[in-house]
Amino acid sequence: MIVGGSGVLGVLDLQGGVQEHLEHLRRVGVAARPVKSAAGLEGLAGLIIPGGESTCLSRLLRLFGLDEAIKRAYAAGLKLWGTCAGAILLASENVGETPFFGLIDIAVDRNAFGSQLDSFNREMLVSAVAKEPIPLTFIRAPKIVRAGESVQVLLQLDDYIAAAENERILVTVFHPELTPNLAFHRYFARKCGVLPVNGDGAALDPNWTPQSWMRFSHHV
Ligand code: GLN
Repeated sequence: MIVGGSGVLGVLDLQGGVQEHLEHLRRVGVAARPVKSAAGLEGLAGLIIPGGESTCLSRLLRLFGLDEAIKRAYAAGLKLWGTCAGAILLASENVGETPFFGLIDIAVDRNAFGSQLDSFNREMLVSAVAKEPIPLTFIRAPKIVRAGESVQVLLQLDDYIAAAENERILVTVFHPELTPNLAFHRYFARKCGVLPVNGDGAALDPNWTPQSWMRFSHHV
């Protein structure tokens, strides 16, 4: 499999927040496409595994043969970003459950904040990613409760890690794609080598509107 040649990023399109990630990647000026099959991974520099429901995603990944295909593409150099359920799938350890991809040395505790009603917004500085504080949307998120030596912590909050990375994988337990902020998408695009490292760009999309009930808003 050829990885990275096209300068294109993909968003796994089986279930969850697919469209919002695609829109954000396009807003930062990156070519992006939905990925529904193993063939869709061809040539990608990076793949986002979106939030949604990790058990559902894991079953669909197996059903479509994408679990093995993503592992092969990763072995060939594909970069990965898991948001929320995506981070759960990428973790090497999943408290009380069997890990799925096991590609990044972190332990996740699924649904550690409680029910869907315990979802919340925060605003925090993630200094590796942006100069200004970033809005963070947690939707029945997991907690990252351990990170191995190969992993850099990007955001530690209270008793858990909220964002981390290793050389080729980024994980966030929150959803930047549900906020107007573009910093994490720009960060991942740079990690994948599809945006210039020193390029600038607006922190916020001026045209972003909270069309979806899930999206972050200061006014809710
Ligand atoms: N609670 C979901 C799970 O365990 C994750 C939620 C999300 O992706 N926002 O898979």
